[in-house]
Amino acid sequence: MGSPAVYSATMNSPQDILEHVFGYTQFRGPQAEVIDTLMAGRDALVLMPTGGGKSLCYQIPALARPGCGVVISPLIALMQDQVEALQAAGVRAAFLNSSVAFDEAQDIESALLHGELDLLYLAPERLLQPRTLGLLQRAQLSLFAIDEAHCVSQWGHDFRADYLQLNCLHEQFPNVPRIALTATADQRTRAEIATRLDLGDARHFVSSFDRPNIQYRIAQKDNARRQLLQFLQAEQQGNAGIVYCLSRAKVENTAEWLNQQGFTALPYHAGLPAATRAEHQRRFLREEGVIVVATIAFGMGIDKPDVRFVAHMDLPKSVEAYYQETGRAGRDGEPSTALLLYGFEDVVKLGQMVESSEGSEEHKRQERARLNAMLGLCEITSCRRQALLRYFAEELPEPCGNCDTCLEPPQTWDATEAAAKLLSCVYRTGQRFGAAHVIDVLRGSENEKVRKFGHDQLSTHGIGTELSANEWRGVVRQLVVRGYLEVEGEFQGLRLTEACRPLLRGEETVQLRKLPPKAARAETRRSAAAADLTPADEPLWNALRACRKQLADEHGVPPYVVFHDATLRGMVSARPQTREELLGVSGVGDSKLERFGDAFLAVLRDFSE
Ligand code: ADP
Ligand code: ZN
Repeated sequence: MGSPAVYSATMNSPQDILEHVFGYTQFRGPQAEVIDTLMAGRDALVLMPTGGGKSLCYQIPALARPGCGVVISPLIALMQDQVEALQAAGVRAAFLNSSVAFDEAQDIESALLHGELDLLYLAPERLLQPRTLGLLQRAQLSLFAIDEAHCVSQWGHDFRADYLQLNCLHEQFPNVPRIALTATADQRTRAEIATRLDLGDARHFVSSFDRPNIQYRIAQKDNARRQLLQFLQAEQQGNAGIVYCLSRAKVENTAEWLNQQGFTALPYHAGLPAATRAEHQRRFLREEGVIVVATIAFGMGIDKPDVRFVAHMDLPKSVEAYYQETGRAGRDGEPSTALLLYGFEDVVKLGQMVESSEGSEEHKRQERARLNAMLGLCEITSCRRQALLRYFAEELPEPCGNCDTCLEPPQTWDATEAAAKLLSCVYRTGQRFGAAHVIDVLRGSENEKVRKFGHDQLSTHGIGTELSANEWRGVVRQLVVRGYLEVEGEFQGLRLTEACRPLLRGEETVQLRKLPPKAARAETRRSAAAADLTPADEPLWNALRACRKQLADEHGVPPYVVFHDATLRGMVSARPQTREELLGVSGVGDSKLERFGDAFLAVLRDFSE
């Protein structure tokens, strides 16, 4: 999309750039202060959740200060998207990596040396080449931005050895301010970033890690596919999203089944050929309404702002993993949903994965603790968001009002007697049978297995007819999660733990969560992105989306590079008829007005009659 930059030297205050280049009116959160820090030539360390608006923190000072801003990013795949989005906004941006042809690289280098570049994206290994460092020494630089700064942490999942050498920037370019950015919340990583990158004098900006636009919902599996389908049909028609499954086989099956149900679903896992993975990722970014069904192999490096939902068909193995995966929804700040479906089988399966893993006893103990924290989050009856943030040492004073437990407070019941019946039935059957058999005995089944082991003769046979088998499974799961029961061995036999004693002695009561009513919620929620549109607005909304898609295809960029959903919604509510009015819509800057304005105005005028 190379065309002359509309950004000019006469327009150089951060506020001007915010309005004219990016089309926004106000800075968000700490952005203004971060930018002031860099404008004053000081270093900054910025911790902000995904979607918090980190990019503007370095893009704006890079434009406002003389010289070119150098952005160090570990993900080559993302650079192209970021550079395209900047170019669409009229910024002179480029990237240098192994995919750039020699001639093109020469042009970029020459532009850099002639002061004709505003932002240059580099992978760390490229930056650290003596040749590149020499080139940068000869150029005028406005700042260094070190994105995904947690990659310096050797304890994290994304460790990159090259990042450790980035402290050389401080020595070689003492007068160029540096900004390090990450969405990783924990304190230890923050300290590590500051030390390893030599950011001792940097100002720290730590934001809340809450993602208020994400609605967290955790539900027990009943019929997982039906639950997913209902969710997609009722709330997510035409939206892009990610469905996570634990195994490759389940990824494939689920994707195929979703296609049969009329959705566009693409599988993604490490077992697929690289070309197929790249193609599926490309379609997810470029087309609208594509669902990717994936193992956790999918996600890192997916910078798509309009992912409207993340659904987990299996339990994530830690709260950290859950938060990171759900965090891929709603980067654009628009309403999004994180749906997790979990069941007893997940608890058993993950428990066994931990036990059979290679690691040391200590490692297993930690993994078990992580899994238990995740299960705890599933079973709580209070606000999910408060519990999530507390896990990351952040206190949310009030329940959030935007999670399932806030929206539909779960019913609990006194399960003390049921628990006692279950525990004694486990004990009487010898602590080696799985849940299904124990429940058969409780419910008085006379099936072959029950008779073969003489369990129809036990005092606990038939004492549990008041609950359905499904309700009993709920009791078993919750007692396992709370540590009263353990699941062991190949046959997943249930066993009592020490924690049972006070309960069996009648010294303790247990409150359990009621199963949700079988009857599905009939009301259809509108798709999240269209949430605050009236039905009368929908034709215009769809026409604007079609216009965006056509322009995106013409320019070979993803639709969100043209305009974000929030901007289209702004058009629907303001109904601008002139260029000036269109410029007033958030997200419309000078360059985008120039390039796309007339096409959208034509659509808007069609609808004004
Ligand atoms: P991060 O890198 O922290 O995940 P981004 O920089 O991608 O977040 O920003 C997230 C979204 O918020 C983008 O759609 C961006 O355009 C938008 N945004 C950022 N700052 C502002 C602002 N001041 N006003 C309006 N929208 C903003
Ligand atoms: Zn809540």
